Amino acid sequence: MVTSRAKVLNLTFHGIGERPNGEHEDEASIWLSVEQFNFVLDFIKGRQDIFITFDDGNKSDVEIALPLLLKRGIKAAFFVCPGNFGSSGYLTGEDVHSLSRAGMIIGSHGMHHRDWRQLKNEELMGDLRVSREILEKETEQPISYVACPGGSYDRRVLNYLKKAGYERVYTSDTGYSRPDAFLQARNTIHSNINPDLLRRIIEQRTWNSAGFIRVVKKCIKRWC
Ligand SMILES: [Zn+2]
Repeated sequence: MVTSRAKVLNLTFHGIGERPNGEHEDEASIWLSVEQFNFVLDFIKGRQDIFITFDDGNKSDVEIALPLLLKRGIKAAFFVCPGNFGSSGYLTGEDVHSLSRAGMIIGSHGMHHRDWRQLKNEELMGDLRVSREILEKETEQPISYVACPGGSYDRRVLNYLKKAGYERVYTSDTGYSRPDAFLQARNTIHSNINPDLLRRIIEQRTWNSAGFIRVVKKCIKRWC
């Protein structure tokens, strides 16, 4: 098992529990039951080399995940889209303030979850700056973490993220990362999670030809 302190395994969650009012139909594969989430937290509790993140700013972040994390003394990062604040099923600005006050890290996931690779330079810089300004106002804390919407990035996006002053960029590239690296790979936990699969994700035993292709794609995204 990989237990080196030199590496961190970032896990990504989305919604926990019931999907609100039948929304997020297309996200069934990335919503976990409360039981599954509890099981994952108990499995990784005490592991300094595993870091938990949440994407999209679903209401379940504050209603379900926060108390379960606090109960176990786990600090996580929540990547939220300020453009969704107050929409049905999503966090409000006050919720984000509550998460921050509870000791959680808040990061930007873009204003409206748009693919950053598709935005023109000015739009991209605006998205990166405005989302951070809103989050800094809500949390009264500096915001230096960001997660790419849809895991989508390329070299231009990374340059703009650096220019905008972000210090950690969370992707969906899978695998372990160095804790101090600018680019942080993440491993999405899907609704099919079970003890054996979680063990294989943590030990990174899911390697196969698809894993090799992912590494090649990651290198291309950094340089193109
Ligand atoms: Zn997302």
